[in-house]
Amino acid sequence: MTTTLAPFSFHTTPGLVFRPSAAGELGAIAASRLGGSVLFVTDPGLTRLGLGEPAIASLQEAGLKVTVFDAVEADPSLATLMKAVEIGRAANATGVAGFGGGSSLDVAKLAALLLGSGEDLDEAWGVGNAKGPRLPLVLVPTTAGTGSEVTPVSIITVGQEEKRGVSSALLLPDIAVLDPDLTLGLPPAITAATGIDAMVHAIEAYASRSANNNPLSKTLAREALRLLAANIETAVFDGQNMEARSAMLLGSMLAGQAFANSPVAAVHALAYPIGGTFHVPHGLSNALVLPHVLRFNAPEAAHLYAEIAGDCFPDLAGGDDTQGRCSAFIERLAGLSARVGLQQRLRDVGIGEEHLAKMAADAMKQQRLLVNNPRAVSQADALDIYRAAW
Ligand SMILES: [Zn+2]
Repeated sequence: MTTTLAPFSFHTTPGLVFRPSAAGELGAIAASRLGGSVLFVTDPGLTRLGLGEPAIASLQEAGLKVTVFDAVEADPSLATLMKAVEIGRAANATGVAGFGGGSSLDVAKLAALLLGSGEDLDEAWGVGNAKGPRLPLVLVPTTAGTGSEVTPVSIITVGQEEKRGVSSALLLPDIAVLDPDLTLGLPPAITAATGIDAMVHAIEAYASRSANNNPLSKTLAREALRLLAANIETAVFDGQNMEARSAMLLGSMLAGQAFANSPVAAVHALAYPIGGTFHVPHGLSNALVLPHVLRFNAPEAAHLYAEIAGDCFPDLAGGDDTQGRCSAFIERLAGLSARVGLQQRLRDVGIGEEHLAKMAADAMKQQRLLVNNPRAVSQADALDIYRAAW
């Protein structure tokens, strides 16, 4: 018997460096790519901690002029992006280095694009609309979750709470530098939320209804889940454990590669109104709706969830009982989220029941994500899911 493999495309960051202390060797790794003047994009918290200093010193030792822009906030605004571009332009930047969590990396990506091409951002929003070329770009994540170093997307907050995105292969950096040392000091709550977010990326990529869901993404998602599920508790409760931190950073990158090519779905669509309106961190927003969305999806996706159940929880591997393994998988995920200390209900993060209807309406705006969900989600379904999560 022959089976026809469905056509697909797969894009990822061409250069990956993974090693402890790599950030302090950023000059040796990336200086030749970045040119003589680099815009270094980071956030004020990391500046206070001095976490970026070895990377900056290393670039300077390699002969580069380094201009630091460290005003990136959570859910970065259009004004912040434009300020970064202005500062990069004044410095005649020849390359951009992003250093931080997903927010700093997202700003670095679009700053590199706008500095390199001079194009109008209003024409670049959406999928495949960026023109380029961008400046050389190197990204150094300091959290293990977003996978932004290997995704072609940058999300910016426009106005009060509207999230707009640019998705283009141009936003994949030239090099991603993964240094697990940078994640050793992450507090337990951030480790937990970002770790669950990475697991959601892998779960949603694996089960995605996207026409481009593909064997590479599926393979990467399973390995990501194996690494993340086995190490998240150790990383949360024993933050200095280098093995666990390394596994989380690698796992979040693999999950990022998976969902960059087989996009995420209703967990993320329903998480966005929680983050946008109530300023709940992205990973926690996902964790709050995760078990409820998976239960909703189970009638269509039980076989898929059963396939990956054993990657997360080895004792759930194998056997004929697809429904039983799917149910156990969802309950175990909910239990894991509670064990790593995350809040479990929407009411726990200050969301009143009266807000749920508006959130369900807002979630419907995320059609670019909802189309990937294994089961169609109506506004009434979204409201039911929020009620279950409340
Ligand atoms: Zn996410």
